[in-house]
Amino acid sequence: MTEKTPATAGRIAFLGLGHMGGPMAVNLIKAGFDVVGFDVIPAAVAAATEAGVPCTSTAVEAATGAAVVLTMFPSGAILLDAYNGVGEPGLLEIAEPNTLFLDCSTIDVAQAREAAALALSAGHRSADAPVSGGVVGAEAGTLTFMIGAEAHDMEQLTGLLEVMGKKLVHCGGHGAGQAAKICNNMLLGISMIGAAEAFVLGEKLGLSHQALFDVISTASGQCWSVTTNCPVPGPVPASPANRDYVPGFAGALMAKDLGLALNALENAGVAAQLGPLAAQIYRKFSDEGGAGRDFSGIITEIRGKSQD
Ligand code: NAD
Repeated sequence: MTEKTPATAGRIAFLGLGHMGGPMAVNLIKAGFDVVGFDVIPAAVAAATEAGVPCTSTAVEAATGAAVVLTMFPSGAILLDAYNGVGEPGLLEIAEPNTLFLDCSTIDVAQAREAAALALSAGHRSADAPVSGGVVGAEAGTLTFMIGAEAHDMEQLTGLLEVMGKKLVHCGGHGAGQAAKICNNMLLGISMIGAAEAFVLGEKLGLSHQALFDVISTASGQCWSVTTNCPVPGPVPASPANRDYVPGFAGALMAKDLGLALNALENAGVAAQLGPLAAQIYRKFSDEGGAGRDFSGIITEIRGKSQD
């Protein structure tokens, strides 16, 4: 099959033009795709319009006649409501048969699977493709996409997603992208708490940050939470610790992702201890002032509660 060029790929309804969706839609337009956007918040519509994304005044209007319905929403509940329709026709009902419903939001694995099953039973196609890389990656078109989709949809998905990202991983069938994302982020949350505890312990034992970094970064404790997002200022100049924990990856998003991991652990019956504990720690961090701080700011909580 010949890969479709943007001009022949059909229209993309881009729903959810927030921090991530707005710049992702702009990158699709820059690559020549026919995009129509919609968001429930007028300010998001205004910003997207200003950035060159033509917008409609309803989701149904955007999705009518679209070849792809791409969503970038805060939650799975919002996605399911949009698919099913609440007080108005649902997107699954009004879309042309065989439309590709592509959800790039980070949502519950069970809800992702439910959304895919609904799309398929309504005569459409479905893919979940959550991202990592944050707003910087969305703007630069360097996101990583973790994809849950049927193999026969990968050619079309690749043509679209490579415009917005630099790494695409086909993780398996429907829901596999969300599954991979929350497994990774659960490990990330746990490893950051571990890194922060190690640095506070090092401080108490009289080690300099640099000395401990030089050891961990080349020894068996090595991990992204130390080598790239180091929770103390100094050793890694680009880490958020050097700018008073301005995100980066916000505590609220880590708390959200660990909540999704917790649901998945429970549904899958995994005898996990650290995942649920990390979820509890980051929920508290987020609720008590850390929502807008980088998640590595958890070190200030640990240090603050430690004995002098
Ligand atoms: P955001 O809140 O900035 O954007 C979400 C947008 O969806 C909002 O503008 C909201 O008004 C809109 N929306 C809600 N309901 C809608 C509906 N029914 N129809 C149309 N629009 C609707 O959030 P974000 O930071 O852009 O994140 C989007 C998704 O990406 C989330 O699932 C998040 O977990 C995930 N994510 C975010 C980041 C990040 O760094 N911000 C990184 C990775 C993944």
